[in-house]
Amino acid sequence: MAKRDYYDVLGVSKNATPEELKSAYRKLAVKYHPDKNPDDKVAEDKFKEAGEAYGILSNKSKKENYDNFGHAAFENGGGQGGFGGFGGADFSDIFEDFFGDFGGSRRSSRGRNSNNRGSDLRYDLSISLEDAYSGKKQNIQFSTSEKCGTCKGNGSKPGFNPDRCSYCNGNGRVRTNQGFFTVQQTCPQCAGSGEEITNPCSDCSGRGNKQTSKKISVTIPKGVDDGTRIRLAGKGEAGTRGGGTGDLYLFINIKSHELFKRSDVNLFFEFPISIADAALGTTIEIPTIDGKKAKIKIPDGTQDGKQFRLKGKGMPFMRRGDYGDLYVQVKTEVPIYLNKEQKELLEKFREIENEKSNPSIKKFFQKAKSFWKN
Ligand SMILES: [Zn+2]
Ligand SMILES: [Zn+2]
Repeated sequence: MAKRDYYDVLGVSKNATPEELKSAYRKLAVKYHPDKNPDDKVAEDKFKEAGEAYGILSNKSKKENYDNFGHAAFENGGGQGGFGGFGGADFSDIFEDFFGDFGGSRRSSRGRNSNNRGSDLRYDLSISLEDAYSGKKQNIQFSTSEKCGTCKGNGSKPGFNPDRCSYCNGNGRVRTNQGFFTVQQTCPQCAGSGEEITNPCSDCSGRGNKQTSKKISVTIPKGVDDGTRIRLAGKGEAGTRGGGTGDLYLFINIKSHELFKRSDVNLFFEFPISIADAALGTTIEIPTIDGKKAKIKIPDGTQDGKQFRLKGKGMPFMRRGDYGDLYVQVKTEVPIYLNKEQKELLEKFREIENEKSNPSIKKFFQKAKSFWKN
């Protein structure tokens, strides 16, 4: 079944404020709560659906991803293909795991302290096709929040410790009675941390983190494709008061190349040749993505549109060590701006051209003749 639009699920517009989202979600959660609708599968599904929609739309970066990519942003592979078997030892220092579980484990980990978890960040990285071919290391700089060094992230002035939250008695969650069922909520006072800052750190005003500009080196693996998303776990914003660090998502954009077109691991380009070369045959030298040259023998009588395949001259498969192919398609160019001598030679050629040299033309006129007869 197709997934419903998250905004439709919550019944809000795309411009809804966080407060509107929250209130829309709360209404649905109350209405479809399993405690209130025992053994009602439809209500249960609606309850889950609303939770999922709110989980995404209430998170700034997830919302942004959803707005840009729709549900595809949270599906395994996202239809991009390519990184199915990726994420292993070669890059484990940098790529701790992949975007694939974005909507999965994260969604189910909503709960205690999740409000304190640092935001996920998105970084768009544009690279050339050559870089995608050979892979590269690159420094990226972005603004993020970092654990406050003065208070080590706990938000209290050095020497002081946070008190137990008086509202939830340190539980981080509170129960409220709504009608005939009980709702358990994150404590609004301490946002689930169970602590209360009584002597806030003067460097971060008790938040536990500070805005900063961070520079890290990332490794772009060989064979990345346009739209590949790479998750760098724990490289996002610092959490507050004990909350986990968010993740950084690299969105790879591959600039279009003036020669090569890419389709998955294969490369393609059109190679123009003269009608004389096509008719008489020749050997041509073509560029390959590794910056080198390759030779192709064009046999005599090569027709327009004929494709030549150069095995292994395409893009690398990610982490497999082998390569796709390069397809070169011949495009015969009919000469223009002929000079006198060229014209004379072609006139002469037209006179002595015979039917055997042009079997398609001969065939066509045979068909046309019998068509006219009938
Ligand atoms: Zn601090
Ligand atoms: Zn509390």
